[in-house]
Amino acid sequence: MENRFIVAGGGIGGLAAALGLAQKGSDVLVLEKAPVLGEIGAGVQLGPNAFHCFDYLGIGDSARQMAVYIEALRLMDAVSGDEIARVPLDDPFRKRFGNPYAVVHRGDLHGVLLRACGGNDRITLRTSAEVAGYDQDGSSVSARLASGERVGGTALIGADGLWSNIRKQVVGDGPPRVSGHTTYRSVIPTEQMPDDLRWNAATLWAGPKCHIVHYPLSGWKLFNLVVTYHNDAPAPVAGAPVSRDEVLRGFEHVHPRAQEIIHHGSDWKLWVLCDRDPVERWVDGRVALLGDAAHPMMQYFAQGACMAMEDAVCLADVIGSNDGAVETALEAYRSRRVLRTARVQLQSRAIGEHIYHPTGPHAALRNAIMSAKTPEQWYDGLAWLYGGSGLNQSVQ
Ligand SMILES: Cc1cc2nc3c(=O)[nH]c(=O)nc-3n(C[C@H](O)[C@H](O)[C@H](O)COP(=O)(O)OP(=O)(O)OC[C@H]3O[C@@H](n4cnc5c(N)ncnc54)[C@H](O)[C@@H]3O)c2cc1C
Repeated sequence: MENRFIVAGGGIGGLAAALGLAQKGSDVLVLEKAPVLGEIGAGVQLGPNAFHCFDYLGIGDSARQMAVYIEALRLMDAVSGDEIARVPLDDPFRKRFGNPYAVVHRGDLHGVLLRACGGNDRITLRTSAEVAGYDQDGSSVSARLASGERVGGTALIGADGLWSNIRKQVVGDGPPRVSGHTTYRSVIPTEQMPDDLRWNAATLWAGPKCHIVHYPLSGWKLFNLVVTYHNDAPAPVAGAPVSRDEVLRGFEHVHPRAQEIIHHGSDWKLWVLCDRDPVERWVDGRVALLGDAAHPMMQYFAQGACMAMEDAVCLADVIGSNDGAVETALEAYRSRRVLRTARVQLQSRAIGEHIYHPTGPHAALRNAIMSAKTPEQWYDGLAWLYGGSGLNQSVQ
């Protein structure tokens, strides 16, 4: 039991943490609730900060191979159909941030992490193992499984997502906040995407209380569609099937070109999005939270998975350089991560309100401000985020 970390949750954050800790010489046991380790079939955007993490975790080459390197972030007005702004992601962007911006299939990203964990002798992966809670004393921690089994270790990392059982015990701040924003997701073959919208960009069509996002995936074989409507949905939902007509209902007021994207989607699934206010308590002795368990956020900065990987890098770094008590190292990890992730949590909500969903003069103001920016001004505004990493906790 000497120097064994238990990680609750085998998502992107949990696997990245396992990999980082194992590379620093710790044995790691990952306990995953689901019977099979995997990710939902949708896309995820990765800022340059995610690539800094891949390099630190030793998976830079395999991560780079599965990515689609888009040329721009495009902001469209979903009412007029006009382009408002375009952030180029070409050489000047890459030089500025030392890495590219890319989009990937979640399954591919999770697969890269899973293969790296599977190939590391220090990591053990266990499925159908829900962690219900923990007990600890001055020298060890014991994870309580829902089955009644107990598993002992030096420290426990709660990477068990939005509905984290570990968080219930560490923070005890009740259920997440229901945002009232409903997101519908579909992944379609590229041939199904209208010809004139097969852009090599992460495109956001911003409309009154609604928006549409699309980008290519998996070597251009697929397109990821994410459509969100602020309909004041009262209760959380995750992955429920929904008809195209229901998806279209929130988009009757947008330009036909934007609406058309929804017509091309199929097998739509629905999520009612939740997040939380930032908290400072992520650590209880030998137990620490990571990823969505620590700082669940709206997806509007496309940074939840990136922040989970940054957490993993930071945790590995403090554990690797720690020669004292594990409690001290976990506290150092918390204090390095808490402000940066709080900024992303809060600003994700703010950009939802001021960029994704405004209406009338609020939207006209957005268009006036955003269309006037030069690429360098965009890069300056994003430097705190994309220039940071799990090692450099930039907040401004
Ligand atoms: C619509 C949408 C779009 C998004 N787009 C982006 C994007 O473009 N870029 C980006 O960076 N982020 C994005 N995100 C956010 C990103 O998906 C999450 O922040 C990220 O997946 C969090 O990873 P995690 O490992 O912390 O948690 P999760 O992915 O939730 O993983 C938690 C794991 O723990 C397991 N588990 C749960 N409870 C227990 C338990 N008690 N015991 C054991 N195991 C348990 C779960 O089964 C799961 O495998 C988006 C989110 C949404 C909703």
